[in-house]
Amino acid sequence: MDTKEFWFVVGSQLLYGDTVLRTVEARAKEMAGELSRTLGYPLVYKATVKSADEIANIVKEANYTGACCGLVTWCHTFSPSKMWINGLQALQKPYCHLATQYNKEIPNEEIDMDYMNLNQSAHGDREHGFIAARLRTPRKVIAGHWKNSDVQKRLADWMRVCVGVKVSRELKVMRFGDNMREVAVTEGDKVETQIKLGWQVNTWAVGDLVKEIDAVSEQEVDRLYAEYEASYDIATDDVEAIRYQAREELAMKRMMDGEGCKAFSNTFQDLYGMQQLPGLATQHLMAQGYGYGGEGDWKVSAMTAIMKSMGDHGNGSSAFMEDYTYHLADGQEYSLGAHMLEVCPSLAATKPRIETHYLGIGMNAKDPARLVFEGKTGPAIVVSLIDMGGRMRLIVQDIEAVKPILPMPNLPVARVMWKAMPNLTTGIECWIIAGGAHHTVLSYDVSAGMMRDWARIMDIEFVHIDRNTTVESLEDELLLKDLVWRLK
Ligand code: MN
Repeated sequence: MDTKEFWFVVGSQLLYGDTVLRTVEARAKEMAGELSRTLGYPLVYKATVKSADEIANIVKEANYTGACCGLVTWCHTFSPSKMWINGLQALQKPYCHLATQYNKEIPNEEIDMDYMNLNQSAHGDREHGFIAARLRTPRKVIAGHWKNSDVQKRLADWMRVCVGVKVSRELKVMRFGDNMREVAVTEGDKVETQIKLGWQVNTWAVGDLVKEIDAVSEQEVDRLYAEYEASYDIATDDVEAIRYQAREELAMKRMMDGEGCKAFSNTFQDLYGMQQLPGLATQHLMAQGYGYGGEGDWKVSAMTAIMKSMGDHGNGSSAFMEDYTYHLADGQEYSLGAHMLEVCPSLAATKPRIETHYLGIGMNAKDPARLVFEGKTGPAIVVSLIDMGGRMRLIVQDIEAVKPILPMPNLPVARVMWKAMPNLTTGIECWIIAGGAHHTVLSYDVSAGMMRDWARIMDIEFVHIDRNTTVESLEDELLLKDLVWRLK
């Protein structure tokens, strides 16, 4: 696993003399050390910078250091911000301004002008903030005492966003076959996407995948089958169907790993030579952090991989999802989400079962094996990235996932049930007005705020539908954003 770290850079100037600068450095080291123990990723104290050259050199080093996922800056003292212009103009990594202070409280007896000159964050951080505003540098500003748990949570969330930025900029997506015929929303400008988001989206032949499937050894299948048995309840006698899915998984993984791909798509319209649409195979790959999109939807596949990386332990509870059908009973309005096979078990509330069922869509010679389960309850989001022509729009909706209110014993797929915000019908209207797709990434551990920060860093449009959104306010917002993004 490659290392990921963040750099703590403290702004100052030479005016203060050695004693003050030594104190600043010692405290900054102490803060970085303590924060590193709580944030999930290391915050490495890099330097107390006192000149334009020092700042520019650190930025150059940050840009070329793969492990560095972002800069966190702070001014214990005053740092004249013309010194920061060259550095910030060259900065290619995400940037957070932590507007904090070493001391939590003003010491009543101790405070004098020496204390004031050492503890100047209140105006140092304002000078520091101005230049980023003037330069229009995308940034996150987090204010509060550095030991405060809310401040630490916000900084930790921002770090996860930056991991999503790194994964996005390095992402390769393997497409098996093209998009489903005639479908619009799964299409997109792959060149523009690579320019903006970094994704390398390319195609590989299904025939080559079939050759890989045929080349998988029985011993490899035995090993993966044992892994399935350990993780899931096997609720079918059709061992051969499960073993075929194991072959598909091993073959797809081999091809992806060979090319450095962390996401893939396929389509039931192009299964030439495959006996089953990959179901269990795709689900188990997603559980390992690979992104996936059905019907050739490479955008949702890439977003799944990115959002997984932003979740708990770098592989959180985020998954490819599709709005399927509604329950519109008065006072009990819900969306039922699923896919024809491929729902990631990271969403599961209970141990998934492996089942085999007939699948009429696509050219399945055999009944595909798949994992069946109910999704977890709790607050979550659904996310859709669409191509508006000339720009990408990221739409995020807050949802509340519930235990499915019906057992649905004959539904042969994993299912999640939720209530969209602000309520189901207004939520649907808002989603449709914004142009959101039927495919989404559903996440329990990435927040709308994190996606907003991600979109700002990637420089794409962001639309959030939450409990306060109305159709009227959303229409006005979209009208203004359309103008802004055409001008940008
Ligand atoms: Mn679909």
